[in-house]
Amino acid sequence: MGLAYIGIGSNLDQPRKQVERAINALKLLSVDEEIKVSSIYQSAPMTIDSNSQQDEYINAVVRINSSDTPIDLLDALQNIENTQGRVRTSEHWIARTLDLDLLLFDDLVINLPRLTVPHYGLQQRNFVIYPLFDIDVNLILPDKTTIKSLYESCSADGIRKIE
Ligand code: ATP
Ligand code: CA
Ligand code: CA
Repeated sequence: MGLAYIGIGSNLDQPRKQVERAINALKLLSVDEEIKVSSIYQSAPMTIDSNSQQDEYINAVVRINSSDTPIDLLDALQNIENTQGRVRTSEHWIARTLDLDLLLFDDLVINLPRLTVPHYGLQQRNFVIYPLFDIDVNLILPDKTTIKSLYESCSADGIRKIE
């Protein structure tokens, strides 16, 4: 059994509803349905090509109690993405109905071809740091970095709390 933190993002096809649907699906994955949900944020899209037009994202993080292995949990997250119409392409950071990233799983460090935990972008992305801080202000990453220090040093560029 482990505490899994999952980052949710959507910027396509009614993003706020996509996020709500994902939260409900994640509740069913949790052993006890006692999940923690962060505030809801709106954030500027990360893009490779600054000329490409993409809508803003809705972001949140949830914490579930998982009895799955991390890889089984990743499979379950990708199934939820598929159910909500995620189209997979080789292109990075394109608009999507739903993105579920496994940010943390207890204090595990995982380096598999399909799965890197903690998520490689965690320490750089304000739309992940803010909601993680909402859920647990005392959170400590496997490398001993505190979420509080990340929260205090990260920029607020492009992000606002909407709920
Ligand atoms: P980014 O990874 O920069 O947030 P993205 O979320 O758009 O970009 P995806 O296309 O959703 O990237 O995922 C690409 C692959 O990343 C997935 O097929 C998955 O195998 C792999 N992956 C590695 N680590 C993780 C993780 N911690 N959570 C989710 N997927 C992961
Ligand atoms: Ca992502
Ligand atoms: Ca992803």
